[in-house]
Amino acid sequence: MKFSVNNTVKCGPRLGLLKEIEKHPNMSLETPMAMLYTRGGSIPHITNEVFKLVSHESQIIQIPLVSTYNFEDAMNDFQGDIADFVGMKECISCVTVQDPADYTQPGHHFQNCIPLWTRQGKVLINAKLYMNSIEAFKPDMYYLLSDSDTNIASSVKRTSNAVSNTISYFKECMERHEKSKVLKNSFVMGTIAGGYCFKSRKDCIDAVCSNDIVGGYLIDGLHNNGPEVELQKAEELKPIVKYVIEKLPQEKLRAIHGCWNPVTVLELVQLGIDLFDTSYCYILTERSCALTFSLDVEDKNDQYELNLRQQQYADDFQPILSGCTCLTCSKYSRGYIHHLVTVQELLGPLLLTIHNVHHYLKFFEKIRECIRNGTLSQLQEKITSQFNAYQEIITKKQTLVNVSKLKENNKDSDVSNQTPRTDNSSITEEDATEDSDAFDNDIIKETQNDTRTTVMETINKTEVKSIS
Ligand SMILES: [Zn+2]
Repeated sequence: MKFSVNNTVKCGPRLGLLKEIEKHPNMSLETPMAMLYTRGGSIPHITNEVFKLVSHESQIIQIPLVSTYNFEDAMNDFQGDIADFVGMKECISCVTVQDPADYTQPGHHFQNCIPLWTRQGKVLINAKLYMNSIEAFKPDMYYLLSDSDTNIASSVKRTSNAVSNTISYFKECMERHEKSKVLKNSFVMGTIAGGYCFKSRKDCIDAVCSNDIVGGYLIDGLHNNGPEVELQKAEELKPIVKYVIEKLPQEKLRAIHGCWNPVTVLELVQLGIDLFDTSYCYILTERSCALTFSLDVEDKNDQYELNLRQQQYADDFQPILSGCTCLTCSKYSRGYIHHLVTVQELLGPLLLTIHNVHHYLKFFEKIRECIRNGTLSQLQEKITSQFNAYQEIITKKQTLVNVSKLKENNKDSDVSNQTPRTDNSSITEEDATEDSDAFDNDIIKETQNDTRTTVMETINKTEVKSIS
């Protein structure tokens, strides 16, 4: 497999092409793109046959080892590769280590092995065990093992240890890769560890970028995965990502994984990231939400996302998104999907997945078109304004939920004549009540199921312990 780019600017949006894929000689894939997130080898909630109704384009399937680790024995006896094993042999397979949609518990790393939190419990793997799995899976591409247990709150000692562990894994994995016959056509992605420490990142780049066999790089160790990544601020990421990109060889593929929201994706595309994943669609579907942000800068639609659990959609007979050509929008109404998700029918998340993945892949198509036309900034402005407006509504609703809880507590403790402040907001009960006409009690109840925490809140709650 080979990767080429159109842009010689070190840090800026670029179009790339993955081609000369050994198992798929007639296939080529344009970047920036998103790999299809899978769990246990399949896209959550839908089968491969259903996915063929979502998109006819060539795709890369992301195979996190954490959810496929127990495939190894079967794969050793199986004649084909991992894409064939999971029934998606028309796709390119990419084995990654952790699951971007699942929070990875920090603090369980050792000097020569990392933890995988599999369904069977914690499994410690070292470079040798990792490469055993990779050789059994025979993927078209894979990420090298790394110590990614860092985030914005990690200490310098932790980031430094993460880098020395990653360099050691890199050497061992590459030695095995170069000797391996079954992996001679696999595209290797080196991993750049080091959290938010510039010096650690530089040390890792200096060691990992010396090998020409590596076809691309994953900028790893920015977070501990999971839904919290959605709300991590792009401003926190940009300085370190820009620093790494400027030091990486510019002709090589650059990847970042995680459930980034579209605004952050656009910021990362502006810096020159080529490869993402669709785990964001999964976390949206899990909270019964559908993407509706606009891909047309002239569009008057200002709704970023719909929460189909809300009572207001019970008798709404429009499709999720007017003009969307997906199977869900062409056949089903918001009202019917509202019914399915409230009674927990399996068809609910299935229909939401079809729409969300379809819309997210269209989003990347639009990104490529805008880079070609030089209109990426206009798209970014449009989606950012929709996203920010939606976040304001969510925050306001959350404040009302807090106020509503406060009122109940006050009733119980007979202190209702006081005007206390909410836990994490400077808005008083009176301030918020003035705006409460716009929201009915149903919305408040539903928002209690839609509570989100920021990545910083999560990090603050988690004591990061360094064992190494
Ligand atoms: Zn749709």
